[in-house]
Amino acid sequence: MSTEFVTQMLPIRVVFGIGTLDHLGDEAAELGLDRVLVIASPSNAAAAQRAVALLGRRCAGRFDDVRQHVPETLVSDAVAAAQQADADGLVTVGGGSTTGLGKGVVHDLGLPLVAVPTTYAGSEMTAIFGVTGEHKRAAHDPRVAPQVVIYDPALTTSLPPSLSALSGGNALAHAVEATWMPQVSPTITHLAAEAVRALADALPRVVAAPDDLAARSDALYGAHVAALVLSWAGVGLHHKLCHVLGGTYRLDHAAAHTVLLPHVTAFVAPAVPDALAAIARALGTNTAAAGLHRLAQRLGAPTDLRTLGMPEESLDTAAQAAAASGGYAPRPVGVQDLRLLLDDAFAGRTPRSWETAPA
Ligand code: NAD
Repeated sequence: MSTEFVTQMLPIRVVFGIGTLDHLGDEAAELGLDRVLVIASPSNAAAAQRAVALLGRRCAGRFDDVRQHVPETLVSDAVAAAQQADADGLVTVGGGSTTGLGKGVVHDLGLPLVAVPTTYAGSEMTAIFGVTGEHKRAAHDPRVAPQVVIYDPALTTSLPPSLSALSGGNALAHAVEATWMPQVSPTITHLAAEAVRALADALPRVVAAPDDLAARSDALYGAHVAALVLSWAGVGLHHKLCHVLGGTYRLDHAAAHTVLLPHVTAFVAPAVPDALAAIARALGTNTAAAGLHRLAQRLGAPTDLRTLGMPEESLDTAAQAAAASGGYAPRPVGVQDLRLLLDDAFAGRTPRSWETAPA
């Protein structure tokens, strides 16, 4: 059988390795930047301070008001700060919320962006940006993608074990969902399995010893590869379900990913057996869904929606909203399917086998 696929890749320069934050000044100079605004939250204050020092005379200011879900008003404030500083470029140091704020500013002002991620969220490799007004909405615009991404695992040792496990769950979701999207290719399937292998190997070591730089490096590498396939394949039913639950019931974004992923994987498994067999092999288990569920348990991450604060009486409405969200799945999705799936996730059951369940 011949192989055919179309993949849109982004022109991002990736600098990866322990201590690579030291390259920041050179990378900014290479981009021709002379007035850089550094965006970082207070939880990354030490790394932000180093970024300012490394930029030296090229640093034009700092913006440290970062909030989850990138509120529109905050983007306006950051745009004003960039204009006031007469910035000709941005450096973000932080997780998905910080990168997202930087992308929001880039969308308005068209400035070059150097992203320095400090979690496993993966926004740094994509052209997707989300802002929240009345509702959270995401758009795709290649101009918001960073020019340079600096991955320095040393900056992730301060991420607490529980947040590391959840953020790792978010990265796993990027890789696993990529395998069943319409844009899938042999490259994506191969790299998604590689991301899952690296994350499943590294995350238990990270949780056991948060200062272990080798484990941090392996986990960040896995998250980078997961983000790469996310940017190529896009997102479907699993991410839509997480956004419905996160947006409407205020469940934590990364925790919702961790709880739901095994159940959505079990649901789609009959339609994509080969791709998920590769993921199961990467996890060292018989099925991908069971392996993901077991990994979450091993990491001490939540495995049920009840713990995350999902109201049981809202499961029917959530199933209807998720069905209406139109997230892609490689098999037909009915409200009844989603209601069963949510019931399993709510109770924290082992993912069911869907071969015999109604489609
Ligand atoms: P986050 O950026 O909100 O960070 C979570 C918490 O960890 C925050 O309190 C932050 O201050 C703290 N933190 C970050 N790095 C730290 C470190 N090294 N040490 C100590 N504390 C640290 O959350 P996140 O999970 O990184 O990102 C989630 C957001 O990213 C969501 O809004 C999601 O929608 C978005 N996202 C976007 C894309 C995309 O392609 N656009 C992809 C993935 C996620």
